[in-house]
Amino acid sequence: MNIHEYQAKQLFRSYGIPAPDGKPAASPQEAERAARELGGEGWVVKAQVHAGGRGKAGGVKLTKAVEEVAGLSRALLGKRLVTQQTDSVGLPVHKLLVEKTYPIKRELYLSLLVDRGSERMVFIASAAGGMDIETVAHEAPEKIISILIHPAAGLQANQCRQIAYALGLKGQQIKALTGIMQGMYNLFLDKDASQIEINPLIETEDGDLLALDAKINFDDNAVAAHPDILALRDAEQEDAKENKAQQYGLNYITLDGTIGCMVNGAGLAMATMDLVKLKGGKPANFLDVGGGTNVEKVCEAFKLILSDRNVKAVLVNIFGGIVQCDIIASGILAAIKQVHVAVPVVVRLEGTNAEQGRALLNNTGLNLYAADDLTHAAEQVVALAEAAA
Ligand code: ADP
Ligand code: MG
Repeated sequence: MNIHEYQAKQLFRSYGIPAPDGKPAASPQEAERAARELGGEGWVVKAQVHAGGRGKAGGVKLTKAVEEVAGLSRALLGKRLVTQQTDSVGLPVHKLLVEKTYPIKRELYLSLLVDRGSERMVFIASAAGGMDIETVAHEAPEKIISILIHPAAGLQANQCRQIAYALGLKGQQIKALTGIMQGMYNLFLDKDASQIEINPLIETEDGDLLALDAKINFDDNAVAAHPDILALRDAEQEDAKENKAQQYGLNYITLDGTIGCMVNGAGLAMATMDLVKLKGGKPANFLDVGGGTNVEKVCEAFKLILSDRNVKAVLVNIFGGIVQCDIIASGILAAIKQVHVAVPVVVRLEGTNAEQGRALLNNTGLNLYAADDLTHAAEQVVALAEAAA
C-alpha cells in the first residue's frame, strides 16, 4: 500500500526525520492561505499522487510570489498527472502539499528496502540524488552504495558513518544523518514498510539535512495490523479493478494484453499466462479465483475481466481437485448468462468429473469452446483474440 508524500512526511516527523514546513490543501484558496501561514520567501506546490517523477511531469511548481500559489494550485487540482511512473491515464490530483522552499546546496539520495537476495534490509545511498537518479543508476552505478543490515545486530552507528562519508557529509551532519537513518529504520520495522525513499535528501546552504521528498510503501500482507496506516489509504489512487477484486477475495492484477484469464490457483494462473505468451498471445490480467470457488465468485471474476475494454477473448482454466468440474461448468454457464459475456470464452476443465463438465459446455449456443487440453485451449484463445482484433 502507498501513501501520499504529505502523510509520509508527518510520519517522518514523528520519527525525528526533518522535513520542510508544509501544509496539505484541497483548494486554491486553501493553498494560498497555507503559503501565507507558512511564511518565508518562496513556496512550492506539489501534486499529491501515488507516483514519483512529478517534478519532470509538471506536478511540482515553485514560486517566489505568494499571490501565484492559488493559480498554480488551480492548474493542478482536478487534473490527472501522467508521469514516467504512471500509465498513460495518470493519477487524479485531489490534494496538494504546499511547502516553503529551501536553498538547495546538494541533492542526495537515501532509501531503505528489503533485499530479497540476501534476505536483509538494505540502505541505498548516493551523493548524486534528485530527479535523475534513474539515469545515475543506469549510467554510473558506482555512484550508488548499499549497506546490508544484519537482522540480529540491527543498524549500527558505523554503518551510518559509512554512508555519511560516502555522501560527503561532515561534523554535525554525520550525527544528523545517523538520526535520519535510525528514524527510517525504526519506522520501517514498527509499521511493516516495504520501502522508504527520500529523494532528494537535501543539504541546505546552511548545511542542514532535510527530507524534501518522501515515499513510503507498506507491506500489503501486514497493513491490516496497522489501523493507523490503513486510515491513510487513498483508494482513488489505486486500481479500481484490483480494489473490487479484493472485496470478493479474488487475486487480480491488471495487465496490458487482450486475453482475459480466469484460473484457480496462483501457480496454475502463472503457468497459464506463460502458455498464452508462448502461443503468441498477451494476457490482459492475472486472476486467481481461489480454491473453493462458487458461482458468485465466477460472476464477479467475469465482470472484472470484461470491464477491461482490451479483452478480446477469455481463457478459463480450472483444475477440479476439491471442486467438481461439472459444478464449475454450470457455474460458468450461469455466470456467462448473468453477465452477458459477448467475447468468446475458451474453457479448459481437468480433474474430477471433467467429462461431465465438458459435456455441459458443448452445444449451448453460446460463444463458448470446451477445450480438451490446455495447449489446445491456449492456441484456440490466441486465435480467437486475433480474429476479434
Ligand atoms: P518527484 O520526485 O515526484 O519529482 P520531488 O518532491 O522530489 O518530486 O520534487 C522534485 C524537485 O523539486 C526536487 O528534486 C527539488 O529540486 C524540487 N523541490 C521539491 N520540494 C522542494 C522544496 N520544498 N524546496 C525547494 N525545492 C523543492
Ligand atoms: Mg523525488
